[in-house]
Amino acid sequence: MKMKKGDLIIVLVLAAAVISWLIINNPDRTSGERQIVIETNGDLYKVVAMEEGMERQEIHIEFKNGKYINIVIDENGAYVRDVVCPDKVCQKTGLISKAGQSIVCLPNRVVVYIEGKDESEIDGISF
Ligand SMILES: [Zn+2]
Repeated sequence: MKMKKGDLIIVLVLAAAVISWLIINNPDRTSGERQIVIETNGDLYKVVAMEEGMERQEIHIEFKNGKYINIVIDENGAYVRDVVCPDKVCQKTGLISKAGQSIVCLPNRVVVYIEGKDESEIDGISF
């Protein structure tokens, strides 16, 4: 099948319409009220609001005996970049980006999780 120039334009216009529809209906973009919460030893350590285009920041937390954890936070979510941890489960978790997801470092007693509006969406699927 050979396409004429006019057909190609129609295809492009339709594709653009579909893409913009997907962006508008993407809950990650429309909710926009998410925050990354870091807890150490069960206490609140830091809360960072997730915003589009926000600057990447690295949070360095030191523990006793020279142990530490480096958590990177940016508009995509949070992950453990570097850690002194026997099992490194926290680092292996990788990036968390959706509300309700969490990174847990049991040996250092650190919890990182995302709080936000799209949290209820997960419950909505299973009924
Ligand atoms: Zn860990």
